[in-house]
Amino acid sequence: MSNFADFYRRSIEDRDAFWAEQARLVEWQTPPQTICNYDKPPFAKWFAGGTTNLCHNAVDRHLKERADQPALIWVSTETEQEKIYTYRDLHAEVQRMAAALKALGVGKGDRVLIYMPMIPEACFAMLACVRIGALHSVVFGGFASGSLATRIDDAEPTVIVSADAGSRGGKPVPYKHLLDEAIVLAKHKPKAVLLVDRGLAPMNLVEGRDQIWGQLRQQYLDAQIPCEWVDATHPSYTLYTSGTTGKPKGVQRDTGGYLVALAASMKYIYGCQPGDTFFCASDVGWVVGHSYIIYAPLIGGSSTIMYEGTPIRPDGGIWWRLVEKYKVSVMFTAPTAIRVLKKQDPAYLSQYDLSSLRTLFLAGEPLDEPTAQWISGGLKGKPVIDNYWQTETGWPILTICNGVERQPSKFGSPGKAVYGYNVKLLDDQTGAELTGANQKGVVAIEGPLPPGCLQTVWRDDARFLNTYWSSVPNRMVYSTFDWGIRDEEGYYFILGRTDDVINVAGHRLGTREIEEAISGHPNIAEVAVVGVADSLKGQVAMAFAVLKDASVLGDEQALLKLEGEVMKVVDNSLGAVARPARVRFVNQLPKTRSGKLLRRAMQAVSEGRDPGDLTTMEDPAALQAIKDMFQN
Ligand code: AMP
Repeated sequence: MSNFADFYRRSIEDRDAFWAEQARLVEWQTPPQTICNYDKPPFAKWFAGGTTNLCHNAVDRHLKERADQPALIWVSTETEQEKIYTYRDLHAEVQRMAAALKALGVGKGDRVLIYMPMIPEACFAMLACVRIGALHSVVFGGFASGSLATRIDDAEPTVIVSADAGSRGGKPVPYKHLLDEAIVLAKHKPKAVLLVDRGLAPMNLVEGRDQIWGQLRQQYLDAQIPCEWVDATHPSYTLYTSGTTGKPKGVQRDTGGYLVALAASMKYIYGCQPGDTFFCASDVGWVVGHSYIIYAPLIGGSSTIMYEGTPIRPDGGIWWRLVEKYKVSVMFTAPTAIRVLKKQDPAYLSQYDLSSLRTLFLAGEPLDEPTAQWISGGLKGKPVIDNYWQTETGWPILTICNGVERQPSKFGSPGKAVYGYNVKLLDDQTGAELTGANQKGVVAIEGPLPPGCLQTVWRDDARFLNTYWSSVPNRMVYSTFDWGIRDEEGYYFILGRTDDVINVAGHRLGTREIEEAISGHPNIAEVAVVGVADSLKGQVAMAFAVLKDASVLGDEQALLKLEGEVMKVVDNSLGAVARPARVRFVNQLPKTRSGKLLRRAMQAVSEGRDPGDLTTMEDPAALQAIKDMFQN
């Protein structure tokens, strides 16, 4: 085993040689001609000239050695189903789906929007897309028609793949009517909608457009659809993520860079071998689900568990029971899930044989020290490793790479800069690098970003440049929009976002999007949404709204009713995932004299903190009223 400091230094200082070596972890139809082309910063082209296919590396490649090994283990505690697909089965299912997509008119470079619950067909659809060189754009099943419509118009999918319903807490959550509404709202119309009928909710089919997967599948049982060899720089997918504007950004990923980055991460970060079982309890709608439910474990020849359900149903022992049953080696979830489990009977942790489990990884939101301590104790000192990353990067920026060198975790810190990421802390006013220990700065990455990170924003290079590479003065660096500090040993600590993005239970939400949805209520004149600390979810959204008709302000009942209505508006437009925890009605919003909303001040007083310098505030009474609300 080598020394991490040397390994890291080589990845930065001898970049091409380092990544050329990693590129040998995967199979190429034609080997790359160049390793990193950075002629047009900040646009990095990784492994250009090399041709390959993600689906080949995730599925076909393994048929020689592990055709009968489980590839996808699907567990639904919602519908009480479990199903195992070997690599051979997965190969057949993906080809059936690929054949159906082709028949519906999908070709290389076309987009397929996938709006699915956690069912195997979501995995088949993703792999089928990349198999034929089409791009998938998965939209989280918790989003509603407004969010979906925005994404349909941006991605312009040829086909949408969906299902009758998801399920939550044992109750069906119908999808189809939301999808129909979204297609009505959207300007772009897909050629076809492919629907998985789980028998959970009725569907009204649109003739000539809607197709049932179960029926189509019968026609393609023996389909043989070869992998389309694409250039390493060919986009594999887009995934929308929230920012400071109301319009989500389509993070565009390449093929070869992503493939190599994920393969290397299985070795150096997750320490996962072919044949191991990887259990990532995320959702395919999020980046963690893309990278670590689907692609990385399959590229690495592992068995991956896809789980539909909550961590506490039928009881708080379910995940540990799965670890025992499927001999899970590596587990991956979000801190919120562990905080949920912490409220359960601790006996669950000692009730099952967890000897197969080597490491637990946590990501997506800050991991607080008490939660880390609790689970580390429960797992009897097995490593609990925090990963800090973003939808944009696709794999960790900061963590401990135990596959390179065993290093201790420090609770509260995700760890050190990962190989390939030239991470810097910069002064947000001057762009100067902060090299001393424990100085607070913006976490930034010097270009080129390593393989696997976003290539650009879908169809919007200008937005890619303006959003990510122009926010730190005097430098062209990638801004993560997170504050951080680094200690004398190189461990980073993340201190929260520099922008208005909030993180609810590991789900990234833009406050602007929620504000826009709330403004859709006829009685809302103005609204501000801020993220407020929450002991379970990390943060929750809190809305402050000014009414057009303020006559109801003193009427508690009327306000409660209005609050319910506003929440419903958010549910219908964005989905319950974006619903504010509370909507508080005020006479005016705190603003600067130039009319800028004082979000940080609202957040501070909502959390019972000192709002700091308020000399630019227009009318202090506005903030005082909010403060009073939280003191009562
Ligand atoms: P997303 O793109 O949804 O994964 O959200 C990325 C954001 O989540 C980051 O910019 C951070 O603000 C936050 N985040 C993700 N992982 C961590 C972590 N391990 N510790 C602290 N914050 C995190």
